[in-house]
Amino acid sequence: MAEHDDLAMNRRGFIQAGAVAGSTALALGSNATAADEAAQKTITVPTRVLGRTGVKVSILNQGTWKAESLNRILRFAYANGIRYFDTAKSYGSEPGIAEWFEAMPEVRKSIFLVTKDAPRTPKDMIARLDERLAKLKTDYVDLFFIHGIGAGYPEDSLDWPKSKEMKETIEAIKKSGKAKFVGFSCHDAKRAEYLEAAAEGKLFDALMIQNTAWLDKNTRLNKAIDKCYEAGIGLISMKQIAGPTPKDFLDQVPNHAPELIAKGLTPYGALLHTIWSDERFSSVCVSMRNTDQITDNTRAAKMFQPLKAAELESMRKAFLASRPSLCADCDGRCSDAAGTKAQLGDITRYLTYYERHGFRGEAKKQFAALPPEARNWEGADLEAARDACPSKLDFAALLARADEHLS
Ligand code: SF4
Repeated sequence: MAEHDDLAMNRRGFIQAGAVAGSTALALGSNATAADEAAQKTITVPTRVLGRTGVKVSILNQGTWKAESLNRILRFAYANGIRYFDTAKSYGSEPGIAEWFEAMPEVRKSIFLVTKDAPRTPKDMIARLDERLAKLKTDYVDLFFIHGIGAGYPEDSLDWPKSKEMKETIEAIKKSGKAKFVGFSCHDAKRAEYLEAAAEGKLFDALMIQNTAWLDKNTRLNKAIDKCYEAGIGLISMKQIAGPTPKDFLDQVPNHAPELIAKGLTPYGALLHTIWSDERFSSVCVSMRNTDQITDNTRAAKMFQPLKAAELESMRKAFLASRPSLCADCDGRCSDAAGTKAQLGDITRYLTYYERHGFRGEAKKQFAALPPEARNWEGADLEAARDACPSKLDFAALLARADEHLS
């Protein structure tokens, strides 16, 4: 518990100091003493090796976005021991990160910096990376991602992870020194297929994927994650509560997993412990929006011990009690159990996009793109579908709403 008390003192001290550059807690310069280094070790978030890159990264990484508070958030995250920062062209946070580097040049080399862009071809990644470096005002990033590969990308993007053009592009990028590692982020419905291609191609170093902590072991997606892990591809978790709304889920945690709250974790900290208990993931990306969230989550990281089976089960119960609506991508067993050709998982996914993610137009478009028999659930045994689904989706309620909103 001493570390937690230290962290609390660091937080108070940091606020009083007003995030002043030059604090020894913020970064170690070339004149760092042994005492400084020892202090640094005690405040740094634990690390895990990112696949075959061999690089140790913070198990918690700071997702960034364009905001007035960005400079304060970056410094506070750093002061609390995070050494992995995630940005992207579309987040608008690269100029803010560049300002941080200008004010504190020593930071750049002590962090793992990731950015992303959306190339139209593998070769296009080279020009896109140059643009990102110009915005970040740095001459390299540690990891460059194709951002959100999937729908919206060229049809042949499923072949990119194995293509000759991608192999040559990655070699050129690494030779230039502009990115040490290359990969993609993905929250697409076809992410199992993208992961399988990545595991087969062995070209990418790391992948960041929408992750469901309670993924059924026998699903295609879970097996694809296994294949990537076995191939030495580093894995980073993101969008870990994309199914229910965060509040729906977090409200259930104290009811179903009081033993984790009693340890001093927040509900979100308990979720982080659940994800970190899956050794396949090296880091979790979280867009921490304020200093309290950073304090709570870095504290959770520093006290992490793998959860016991009973604790994981308590968290699964909290998840189920939050009435998830998002298909967690298994093998379509709900449709088989219901005796229908309707793609029940896809329909509920589009409903979640519509109701919870705010992508109303896109949800209707994707629903309309399904063949008629994939949309027609008439006569389906919805109770049997619910029983078969690992997330226990309430199809009777969800499909009625899907008809109302998506048709
Ligand atoms: S909705 Fe269907 S496909 Fe999706 S997780 Fe549940 S059973 Fe699997």
